[in-house]
Amino acid sequence: MSSSPHVVILGGGPCGLYAARVLSRIGVAVTLLEKGVTPGGLATSHKRGENWYDLGCHMLHEFDKEIYEDIMELMGAESIPVPLDAKIRWAGSFYRYPLQFQDMIKGIPFFTLVFYTLGLFAAQLRQSLVPWTPKNAEEALIQLYGGPLYKFFFKDFTHRYWGIHPRELSATFITTKMPRLSAVDVIKKALAKFGIKDKSINAVDSALHEETLHYSRTGAEAMPRVLAKAIEEKGGKVILEAEVSRIVTQEGRVTSVHYVKDGQEQELKCDECISTIPLPWLVQKTEPAPVAEVQLAAKELRFKPIAIYGLLVKKPKCIDGLYIYYRDRMFHRVGEPKNAGLIVKPEGHTVLIVETTCEIGDEKWRGTEDAKDRIFVDLELENICKKEDVVEVNLLHSETGYPVFMLGFEPHFEKVMKWVKSLPNLQSTGRQGGFKYPNMHSAMRMGATAAQAALKRIQ
Ligand SMILES: Cc1cc2nc3c(=O)[nH]c(=O)nc-3n(C[C@H](O)[C@H](O)[C@H](O)COP(=O)(O)OP(=O)(O)OC[C@H]3O[C@@H](n4cnc5c(N)ncnc54)[C@H](O)[C@@H]3O)c2cc1C
Repeated sequence: MSSSPHVVILGGGPCGLYAARVLSRIGVAVTLLEKGVTPGGLATSHKRGENWYDLGCHMLHEFDKEIYEDIMELMGAESIPVPLDAKIRWAGSFYRYPLQFQDMIKGIPFFTLVFYTLGLFAAQLRQSLVPWTPKNAEEALIQLYGGPLYKFFFKDFTHRYWGIHPRELSATFITTKMPRLSAVDVIKKALAKFGIKDKSINAVDSALHEETLHYSRTGAEAMPRVLAKAIEEKGGKVILEAEVSRIVTQEGRVTSVHYVKDGQEQELKCDECISTIPLPWLVQKTEPAPVAEVQLAAKELRFKPIAIYGLLVKKPKCIDGLYIYYRDRMFHRVGEPKNAGLIVKPEGHTVLIVETTCEIGDEKWRGTEDAKDRIFVDLELENICKKEDVVEVNLLHSETGYPVFMLGFEPHFEKVMKWVKSLPNLQSTGRQGGFKYPNMHSAMRMGATAAQAALKRIQ
């Protein structure tokens, strides 16, 4: 190990940035390599003309107090607190997100609600009497919410969102990705009073009924920008447009990282390496290559690409609230960041962030006229805006929007992680590197944890 240990971080999304923040703050030499033109990864925005377009609306939750307070201090007046105001469009009505029991009572016809409740009751009773482990996402959803709610709410939504039937997805997907429905919790609590305890697997608490999110006048880009600035002020290096090309190992340790900047390959020696780039890419780029078994396992880890349509619309306002989830449209979520404080020019215009999942190279990915027209038709059917109101379409992509937990992915994931652990100065973490579903604060916490682990070894 060199006299002044050097940590190299691969990827400048929230996870990599926060790992660099933790290390640079205490004077550790750190270099972060990010292939994008801006820091932030998925949680960034791109400037097109006079406006900023998020790669999917990104707002910070307050759940991790330490990280939240640190970010607030760094952002100062740039941070705008915004009450969570999100909705779900379902069967012609709007419901608050996360789904509330009192809204379901008001919105859903009485007999339908009784039907859902009986389904949930039956699922709870079955689990109470003969506990069972779901074999796939379909069974996990039925165990959690009962057959009727699965059939009418989750089945199509999940299928459309992922392009994969819930039967082909792992039950782990439900425990780590699917938002928890608080409405269902109310029913479960009521059942518990009659001695029917909830023994089903857990879903994720991704948002509270009432919480404050944090945003900025320039969108998601502000937080990664101030983080990158803070790292550099403490002597750390953030190198943008630097694509990691090779991770070189010798005698079971990472010794250097190579990256391409301005067409030239450069080398960085390192004592510790924290990777937040997609796990399969880490495997592909490591030299010498890991054994064939690990390479094959890495190929089994799939990601769902996203195509985000940022629309400049000639209307002062299009939707009520921050964003709305849709079950049966070309898009699964539409956000209007102006309602969270984004500055939009010219006056009288707004920006819509229309989020879709896709496959690389398909119509949505390429933004064909047909794909745009189908989106415009759905926007008009939802009374959001008309095609003629749309002044500009800015298409943004990510090849690795969501990790996909295919049925049986777990042993492949474990095999790859075992290989990572065999290299004692390498860590792979964050959303892409950990093959997980953290929100920004949890991704930053994963970065902080990786930084602490690296620190223990180099100190
Ligand atoms: C549509 C959408 C909306 C979301 N909304 C929210 C929200 O409102 N609030 C919230 O808290 N979370 C939200 N999230 C989750 C959030 O995006 C993630 O938690 C966060 O981005 C994860 O950070 P990360 O650093 O782990 O990964 P990423 O942000 O994916 O960062 C990985 C980085 O690695 C870089 N990279 C990859 N390969 C290379 C290479 N070879 N060389 C150099 N760099 C490389 C990438 O360019 C990227 O910058 C949302 C996610 C999506 C998809």
